[in-house]
Amino acid sequence: MENLENLQVLREQARTQSQLLEQAEDALTQTINEYNQARRSHFDKEFKRKQLFWCTECHEIFKGEGQLILLEGVREESCGYENSCYRFDTYSELHQTCPSCYQKALDRHGWVGTTDSQLHKTPRYHAFRVETRSDGLFACRFGEWQALNPEMKVPAIWDHVIEKLCNEWKLPPKLEIKFGRLKDPEWIVAGEPV
Ligand SMILES: [Zn+2]
Repeated sequence: MENLENLQVLREQARTQSQLLEQAEDALTQTINEYNQARRSHFDKEFKRKQLFWCTECHEIFKGEGQLILLEGVREESCGYENSCYRFDTYSELHQTCPSCYQKALDRHGWVGTTDSQLHKTPRYHAFRVETRSDGLFACRFGEWQALNPEMKVPAIWDHVIEKLCNEWKLPPKLEIKFGRLKDPEWIVAGEPV
């Protein structure tokens, strides 16, 4: 009987400790999120201070200001399990490019590919100049200036590019939590989730 009571006490102790672990984990997650957000905003400021921009076409970093351009068209994309299929995607994207990618895009403007015999779609490519005005962004589509949807944003700089720069600039590292054991209550109280 005494042995059973002892088991009960230890079981309660494990339950309390696992609750404490859970609270500590929540607090840790919050702290790490705050840290990563503050780190990101520090990175953005540094990026601005150094007067850099990221070319969304060649994905290189350049000094100065990128040139905005509106890219539209129909492109082939792989899809399905292990990219076993393909489909055609109609897109309209705002990009920010380096001088060389800007020129390449304008040179390619008007390109039309061959019509796909199965899906009956034709890939095509258009590049339109973009101007920043006091009332927003305007693109010159076939000779006509049109206001762009204000929700249209240049793709954000890729995470791994940020991490590479953070290493070079010796900014503090990103923090991550690896969940698993802590998220699994059975690890704490075997057989009976808390
Ligand atoms: Zn580029």
